Amino acid sequence: MCGRQLSRDDDPLSGDCGGDCWGCIGKIEADLGWEPSVEFVRKEILDGLRDGRGEPRSSTRRSGHKAIEGGSVELEPKLSALHAIMRLLRDEWDPIGMMPHLPADEYDSYANRVFSMLSAGASVEEVANYLSASEMTGAPDLDRDFKVAQKAVLIMNSRNLP
Ligand SMILES: [Zn+2]
Repeated sequence: MCGRQLSRDDDPLSGDCGGDCWGCIGKIEADLGWEPSVEFVRKEILDGLRDGRGEPRSSTRRSGHKAIEGGSVELEPKLSALHAIMRLLRDEWDPIGMMPHLPADEYDSYANRVFSMLSAGASVEEVANYLSASEMTGAPDLDRDFKVAQKAVLIMNSRNLP
């Protein structure tokens, strides 16, 4: 979305997080308080890949600098947890059943909220309740909401730092 070229070997922030670069997604995740991403972003600031606030530096601005070896490149997450949760809500939650007719980012604000709740240690039940309360159909599918919340927790757990 920021226009960065994705999956470039010489650009550590260009990892493809589902169509958006790790540079952008990593900052969002860190800002939402997800500890593993806070760690990644902190290292990338130290490496000079991001400015002091975590904003990704453009790859062209770095091109005059010495190439950065190892370290942050190996640590870069291959799949963003936030993006995985966005996709989860789109594919499996979709409470009004209108996803094909809505813009792809329709549920992203819900995904942001779920992500930040889980970053702050929310339980499966709390996330399921949030999803149920967010449905505008008047008849939330409690069973589905619980399953989606469980999957969101699994996604977050799979992204813990080694
Ligand atoms: Zn980007």
